[in-house]
Amino acid sequence: MMEPVENVLIVGGGTAGWITAAAMAKLLPKQVQVTLVESDAIGTVGVGEATIPQIRRLNMLLGIDEMEFLRETKGTFKLGIEFNNWGRVGDSYIHTFGEVGMPLGALPFHHYWLRARQGGSNADLWRYSLHRQASDENRFGLLERVGNTKMEGLAFAFHFDAGLYAQYLRRYAEARGVKRIEGKVQDVSLHSENGRIETISLESSEELSADLFIDCSGFRGLLIGEALGVGYEDWSQWLPCDRAVAVPCERTEPLLPYTKATARDAGWQWRIPLQHRTGNGHVYCSKYLSDDEAVGTLLSNLDGQPTADPKPLRFTTGRRERFWHKNCVSIGLASGFLEPLESTSIHLIQSNVSRLLELFPNKSFDEATIGEYNRLVGIEYELIRDFLVLHYHQTEREDTEFWRYCRHMSVPETLREKMELFGEAGILYRNLDDLFREASWLQVMLGQGITPKRYHPMADRLSDDQLRDFLSQVERLVQHAVSGLPRHEEFIAQRCAAA
Ligand code: FAD
Repeated sequence: MMEPVENVLIVGGGTAGWITAAAMAKLLPKQVQVTLVESDAIGTVGVGEATIPQIRRLNMLLGIDEMEFLRETKGTFKLGIEFNNWGRVGDSYIHTFGEVGMPLGALPFHHYWLRARQGGSNADLWRYSLHRQASDENRFGLLERVGNTKMEGLAFAFHFDAGLYAQYLRRYAEARGVKRIEGKVQDVSLHSENGRIETISLESSEELSADLFIDCSGFRGLLIGEALGVGYEDWSQWLPCDRAVAVPCERTEPLLPYTKATARDAGWQWRIPLQHRTGNGHVYCSKYLSDDEAVGTLLSNLDGQPTADPKPLRFTTGRRERFWHKNCVSIGLASGFLEPLESTSIHLIQSNVSRLLELFPNKSFDEATIGEYNRLVGIEYELIRDFLVLHYHQTEREDTEFWRYCRHMSVPETLREKMELFGEAGILYRNLDDLFREASWLQVMLGQGITPKRYHPMADRLSDDQLRDFLSQVERLVQHAVSGLPRHEEFIAQRCAAA
């Protein structure tokens, strides 16, 4: 009845495969043998270098020393993403990882700010953002809280070299018993009665069997899609970009503690600062831009000399109809792909691995467990999708066909309701399963140009003088905290510079 899973076979050694292997090696009982097969000839997608703060939970779970991790992956710190030209050409805002300002009484800060705006102040919201001000001055430090106030300190994530990250996790996983096999999977055979995966065979004709198979084979979905026939739900009507071209360039100064996402005519361009180079890429919609034009735009907007040839990538935004089917769980690009715009893919990998570990099956592979996993992962995908669609749809841009499409496309009802509520009353409704907190929705909605018609009446509890004092106190706290932080380069040089 309770026959435990004894063998897990992971197909794929990209970021998804090695995060899965590392977490399983750390958390599953020693009796479970974890094997990973990867093909050097096929290689990995080679992108995925910006993260969100949730990655620190994975590091904690694995017991990783973050300074060592940054040294090994030549990484830098990330306080948020600067969005340029999204709401309108010339606009710029940062979606930072922290709260803006600090709450007073039961009311979030932005209602006080909205009241001041309606009273004639022209102060930008981000004047009160510790993260924005630190980013503008290229400062970074470990700061949990600002003095003994209610103001949160710096929440941060990392940029890193994806290849070095996979190698780092590989060393971690192999040291804890994960067996790695190099080889190309050629065939997958299914059980004739229950349709589960029985064995996979490699080009070398070696056959590998397991109880549980994890498909980390990338976009192709070798097991979940090709072998088991699970379909793909296409979301490109909301997230229309379907190609990218990536190229590294020389590092230039200063070392910014944030990612840049600059909107282009039919997509956007990323800039990710690393210790040894800058990562760049242009994500675009092939319906409105040719590959040559995309490469041209990318190469003419680098801030250093390119150090490799541009690498093209193709994808369809969306998700698997089932993430877990029979004895196979898909993780990483094999399970779906949303825009890289908010760096959520690596988060989805770690979140799916922790869900799988929570719901770890026995050999019965019962539908109740599988159904719950699929339900939870589906909700997370949809909530992230809505947040990403917001960036494209909430724009005044009409200057190209791509932006006209985005501005006028119909959006999921769940998103439309959120936008209306904020636009009317400045209220942020958060679904508890949502990865993005109220502060994220606030910054992106305001940054993209939604200005609430009213603020919460509780903000009127302060007199005009009290309101002015409160806002200047917050501003002073932010300035004081920022001035005490080292420069980002200095912090890295002292704590985690690569050899
Ligand atoms: P891959 O890296 O493609 O790995 C697949 C593995 O399967 C490889 O080891 C390959 O060799 C193996 N394999 C495939 N077929 C076979 C076979 N037949 N036999 C044996 N082995 C096989 N995510 C973020 O979090 N932040 C970002 O900033 C970000 N930017 C991105 C930008 C772009 C343009 C794209 C496309 C993605 C981005 N992502 C980002 C997503 C991120 O790159 C991926 O989630 C992450 O790299 C995981 O990929 P993977 O391991 O699923 O697939």
